[in-house]
Amino acid sequence: MFEKVLIANRGEIALRVLRACKELGIQTVAVHSTADADAMHVRLADESVCIGPPQVRDSYLNIPALMAACEITGADAVHPGYGFLSENARFAEILDEHKIVFIGPTAEHIRLMGDKITAKQTVADLGIPTVPGSDGEVHTVDEALAVAQEIGFPVLIKAAAGGGGRGMRVAESKDKLGEAFSAARTEAAANFGDDAVYIEKFLGTPRHIEFQILGDGEGKAIHLGERDCSIQRRHQKIWEEAPSPALNSEERLRMGEVVAKAMADLKYRGVGTIEFLYENGEFYFIEMNTRIQVEHPVTEMITRIDLINEQIKVASGRGMTLKQDDIQFRGHAIECRINAEHPETFVPSPGKIEYYHPPGGLGVRVDSSVYQGYEIPPYYDSLIGKLIVHGETRNECLMRLRRSLSELVVNGVETTVPLFNRLVKNQDIIDGQYDIHWLETFLAENSD
Ligand code: ADP
Repeated sequence: MFEKVLIANRGEIALRVLRACKELGIQTVAVHSTADADAMHVRLADESVCIGPPQVRDSYLNIPALMAACEITGADAVHPGYGFLSENARFAEILDEHKIVFIGPTAEHIRLMGDKITAKQTVADLGIPTVPGSDGEVHTVDEALAVAQEIGFPVLIKAAAGGGGRGMRVAESKDKLGEAFSAARTEAAANFGDDAVYIEKFLGTPRHIEFQILGDGEGKAIHLGERDCSIQRRHQKIWEEAPSPALNSEERLRMGEVVAKAMADLKYRGVGTIEFLYENGEFYFIEMNTRIQVEHPVTEMITRIDLINEQIKVASGRGMTLKQDDIQFRGHAIECRINAEHPETFVPSPGKIEYYHPPGGLGVRVDSSVYQGYEIPPYYDSLIGKLIVHGETRNECLMRLRRSLSELVVNGVETTVPLFNRLVKNQDIIDGQYDIHWLETFLAENSD
C-alpha cells in the first residue's frame, strides 16, 4: 500500500480523498493556492504545500509545482480528484516517468476517452450502443448534410474535444445546418483549440443515465449500477439519484453486464463512468469519464462500497477483491449539489459564510469543505458541498431529503438550497418523471 498520497485538488473532493486515505492508514499531503490557505483540506491533512497564486493555471493546474510538492514531501502516489488534472494524460505520464503512481487509469485510456470521436469508436467496437451519427469527424457542410439526411433531423453537431456542454449545436432542419456547423466549429476551436466536430442524432426527451464501473487493469471489471443525472441546467448536473426511477432491474443488469464486459476487454484500471442517454427503452453512449465523479456518493450509499478506497487499492497493485456478486443494491439515494450561487440565475455568490449548520441523522451524509466563518474564494467552481440521503425506498429517501434540507442553514452567501426546497415538493420529481430538459422548462415556467 502507498505510504503517502498527495491530493492534487481542493474543496469537498480533496476532503473526501483525505478521509479514504486516513482510513487506509496512508499519510496525506494537501496542496493549495494562496487563496486556499485556510481551507479545510489543508487543515486536516498531515502536511501541506502551497503551489501557487489563486489562478488555477498557476496552482491546481501547475504540473511543475505539483511535481516539486511530490518531491519535497516524498509522496509515492497522487490522487487527482475530479476536474483539474484528473483527465490529463500528460500529467499521468509525467508521474509515471518519476515513478509516482497516478491514482487513475493509464495515460493511453485517458487519451482514448478524452477525444469523443475515438471514445465513441472504441466503445462501439466493444459492444456498447452509441447514438446514430457520422463515422468520425465531419469536415464540410456537404458531408454533414449527407449524414443528417441519412439519420434524419434534428441533429446535434458536437466538438470532438468537447466538455462542460460547450461546442454543441442543434440543427432542426436542412437550412439551419450550415449555421450550426460553423458555430460548433468556432466554439470548439475557441474553447478547446481543436475544431474537429462530428454529428449525432439529436434525441428529444432522453434521460441521462450513467453506469459506474471498476476495473483491475488486467481484464477483470465489475459494474456498480447506474445513476440518473437528468436534472441539469445548462448541461450541468445538480441532482443525481440511484437507482434510476426509469429502469427496471432487468434493464439495469443487462446494460451493467455490457459495460462491465467492455471494460474488462479494454483492461481498464480504476473507477470510471460510462454515460448514456436513455430514450424509449434504448441506451445511447455519449461519453466516458475516466475518473471519480462528483455524484459517486449515491452509488456508495446504495452499495455500501467506498469507491475511493477501491480506487486506491487497485492503483496500489493490491488488485480487486470485489466480485460482481458482492455488489448488492439496497434502497435509494439522492444527492443535491449545494452551490454558492443564485438559485434561479445560477450566478456565483462567493463570500463569507456567516452561519453554517449541516443536517444529520440516519441516512444523511454531507460531503462539504466549508465551515462557519469560511470565506468562499471567487476563483473556483461554486460547488461548496453535497447533501446525500439514503432511504429504504424512494419515498422514504424523499421524506428524509425534505427533512434534511429544512435543517440545513448556510447564511451569508446565496445557495441552490431554495431550488431544492421547491424540487422536493414538485409532483414530477415525486413521480420520478423527468428528462434532461425538465429543469430548464421548470425554471422558465416558474420564474418570478
Ligand atoms: P460534455 O462533455 O460537454 O458534458 P456530453 O456528450 O456528455 O458533453 O453531453 C452533455 C449533455 O448534452 C448530455 O447530458 C445531454 O444533456 C446533451 N446531449 C449530448 N448528446 C446529445 C444527443 N445526441 N441528443 C440530445 N442531447 C444530447
